[in-house]
Amino acid sequence: EVRLDHVSRDFGTLNALRDVSLTIKRGEFVALLGPSGCGKSTTLNCIAGLLPVTGGSIWLDKSRVDTLKPEERGFGMVFQNYALFPHLNVRQNIGFGLKMRGTARVEMERKIDEALALVRLQGQEHKLPGQLSGGQQQRVAIARAIVIEPPLVLMDEPLSNLDAKLRLEMRAEIRRIHNELGATTIYVTHDQDEALSLADRIVVLRDGMIRQVGSPKELYEAPAHLDVADFMGFRN
Ligand code: ATP
Ligand code: MG
Repeated sequence: EVRLDHVSRDFGTLNALRDVSLTIKRGEFVALLGPSGCGKSTTLNCIAGLLPVTGGSIWLDKSRVDTLKPEERGFGMVFQNYALFPHLNVRQNIGFGLKMRGTARVEMERKIDEALALVRLQGQEHKLPGQLSGGQQQRVAIARAIVIEPPLVLMDEPLSNLDAKLRLEMRAEIRRIHNELGATTIYVTHDQDEALSLADRIVVLRDGMIRQVGSPKELYEAPAHLDVADFMGFRN
């Protein structure tokens, strides 16, 4: 499980995260949802280690991780802009993290093949990122994140650069991949529909604070505040 214990993050006088406590169970798919500037990316970056916390602690099972470097945490990350290496082909992009870890050649090739099959990119493996569509590039980014078999997968608005049709298609793909792998996933989005259709539980953030945590059904049936109901589009 992943646990945030009274986490805060300040930028000068701005409290971007205020006393955020949250436990995510193994295998769970959790969406962080809220309007622009509410602290979604800050939360994710603190978990990933790209941003130090200014208060509180972050735990993976019994280990404290907020004191570790990002590479020591070993989480898989998928960003809005795919951040693929432009000069490496699909296979090399996916294998990069394994290579860094010194994975043996045969095992590396096998894991890359599995990841390619999972994201359905067989046959594209020798192309460069620039020769792929946006959806295909995002599949590579997902494969690269999961191929290392991370204890936690972090995704920050991974579909927001895609057109509407592809966004729906990739949403279904992300759910399918999660169902097949069962990796613990934290997924940042400002899109209510995306959160409702993907997540086991949704964390509604507002002004750096958790407004409510619940399953889609719980949020729908018992929104904690009118503003949650409004934001979710449950009132009209
Ligand atoms: P969006 O949906 O627009 O991506 P978000 O919920 O991801 O928004 P954050 O990026 O977490 O929002 O930002 C939370 C707050 O912290 C915002 O007020 C933002 O301006 C501020 N902030 C984020 N990063 C920094 C930084 N490096 N320096 C100063 N302020 C920052
Ligand atoms: Mg953000």
